[in-house]
Amino acid sequence: MLPSRERGSYWITTFGCQMNKADSERMAGILESMGYREASAELDADLVLYNTCTIRDNAEQKVYSYLGRQAQRKRTNPNLTLVVAGCVAQQEGESLLRRVPELDLVMGPQHANRLETLLQQVDSGQQVVATEEHHILEDITTARRDSSICGWVNVIYGCNERCTYCVVPSVRGKEQSRLPDAIKLEMEGLAAQGFKEITLLGQNIDAYGRDLPGITPEGRRQHTLTDLLHHVHDVEGLERIRFATSHPRYFTDRLIDACADLPKLCEHFHIPFQSGDNDVLRAMARGYTVERYRRIIDRIRERMPDASLSADVIVAFPGETDAQYRRTLALIEEIGFDQVNTAAYSPRPNTPAADWDNQLPEDIKVERLREINALVERCARERNGRYAGRVEEVLAEGINPKDPSQLMGRTRTNRLTFFSATGADDRRYQAGDLVNVHIDAVRSFSLSGTPLNC
Ligand code: SF4
Repeated sequence: MLPSRERGSYWITTFGCQMNKADSERMAGILESMGYREASAELDADLVLYNTCTIRDNAEQKVYSYLGRQAQRKRTNPNLTLVVAGCVAQQEGESLLRRVPELDLVMGPQHANRLETLLQQVDSGQQVVATEEHHILEDITTARRDSSICGWVNVIYGCNERCTYCVVPSVRGKEQSRLPDAIKLEMEGLAAQGFKEITLLGQNIDAYGRDLPGITPEGRRQHTLTDLLHHVHDVEGLERIRFATSHPRYFTDRLIDACADLPKLCEHFHIPFQSGDNDVLRAMARGYTVERYRRIIDRIRERMPDASLSADVIVAFPGETDAQYRRTLALIEEIGFDQVNTAAYSPRPNTPAADWDNQLPEDIKVERLREINALVERCARERNGRYAGRVEEVLAEGINPKDPSQLMGRTRTNRLTFFSATGADDRRYQAGDLVNVHIDAVRSFSLSGTPLNC
């Protein structure tokens, strides 16, 4: 469909997690359906949108410095439209307008699908703040996806947990699950466009369905993540399905069995454990113990011995002793993760832990982070070692930007893999192909190899 009118150009900068990236793709789709086209540079754009993250203080500070630059532009170019979306917008609301009066629109993540309506209000001369609790509208716009092979599909918005360090519940609101048929329809649409892999997204995806009505004859919830996976598994054309982010408190054996039994479900699990010490987990209000976490991993490995495991961990949480921190190191070593995203604790506004008086000094944060990063890298290298000499199925996602003679893609276990775009028989591989790759070299965070004739 041709755009109804030329609206100038837009630029979106996205900070933070996959949920934000998925929201940005939807907002880009809305802007394009309104007649905007993507600008070639941020400083040339007629509409600039920052989709923000407040998980860490440095991401938030970066937004303010970007905004300062745009506010200056706006003073000489009043037609520039400035939008702040995402979690900083939700957290700061009106006060963001006081801090940056040049802003036109401040909108929380629950309002992403309302971008067109909100911009119409801006067009009528208002400065708009949209941060009230809002029932998320079903997607009606086609997202402008950054990849044409791998896509994200939101299945649940918000989070009802109360982890004491986390700002997400206060900025993303209560859990809102999408209906299984709406999710399946979106996946079918993506498959029809040629997408091969879908990652289902939720801040706490294991909570999927607990806000939807229905009880099965066996007395359990009718809508769970496991049921959803069964519901969407057979979408024609899709080769792979993933999901993130899991929560150890709600991760079930049924889910593990579904992952083992459904062939399109990939053998990769991202299950944040956050700390290897039960007292720290209790202070974080995570709702599980290290023992429970171990049982989940054992069960996964029982059913899928080669599954890859990744996690998130926080070091230097308020009051974390050296012994408690060492238990986190020991757990990483014991489990042998393929990847761990590490962070030093960063106090966030409106979270209980930020007000505690047992904050750890910066030098401890830096030192623990340095040490744990070295361990994580060693574990990743050791785990990747098992791929050497093996043949792995890789879904080609695109050209390696550092070497255009190569393609890059991922194994089912989510290992980034580079390989020659040309096979031995001169066959040219392209994005979207599933290629059997002989792994010749392993590094901590990637593999490379040679495509085999199929
Ligand atoms: S589960 Fe905890 S860490 Fe994850 S989004 Fe919810 S509150 Fe934050």
